[in-house]
Amino acid sequence: MARYRGPVCRICRRLAEKLYLKGEKCYTPRCPFERRPYAPGRRSMRRRKVSDRGLQLREKQKARSAYGLLERQFRRYYREAVRSKGITGEDLLCIMEMRLDNVVYRLGFADSRNQARQLVLHGHISVNGHKADIPSHVIKVNDVIGWTARGAKSGIFQVVKEQVAERSLPSWLSLDGGQMTGRVLSLPTMEDIGAKFDPATVVEYYSR
Ligand code: SF4
Repeated sequence: MARYRGPVCRICRRLAEKLYLKGEKCYTPRCPFERRPYAPGRRSMRRRKVSDRGLQLREKQKARSAYGLLERQFRRYYREAVRSKGITGEDLLCIMEMRLDNVVYRLGFADSRNQARQLVLHGHISVNGHKADIPSHVIKVNDVIGWTARGAKSGIFQVVKEQVAERSLPSWLSLDGGQMTGRVLSLPTMEDIGAKFDPATVVEYYSR
């Protein structure tokens, strides 16, 4: 599946929101959003009135960019959320949160969703003891996410193992730092996720 390969910090600046796409750098003064908190481009300093539709579009772009999804894939998740029985915005968020690359990121096995995606694509990650190399793989409650034999031999594994205990873990996941495995205890709630965008506004964008 193709994905955006341009400079990701421009996305944060364009959408006026820190989306934490670069891992460690996002938490340092080197973050471009901290240094230049306005949209890139020569005309960006000009104030422009944003229409309601523009605000909806911005929320949708934030959601899509935060999870590193292309439009087609994001729209597919939206349709899935519409078909589900719950609140569409919340279900949309939950669907994206249960992607394998996101769970790997939330467990602290990677600094960013992008890095998590690379770990998965390189065959470093397992689900219930079997190699899982598709980032969009849907994780279920009680699934156990770990490292494959190949992953456990990688340089990043050692780095992660030393640091993983210091990382904050959401309440819907549990971690065994010794075994370097994580388990999904429940579906995440909106409070657990703490999204940087408003899911209801994303739904408004698509329901026009
Ligand atoms: Fe966004 Fe992180 Fe880049 Fe800062 S460093 S602009 S938070 S991706």
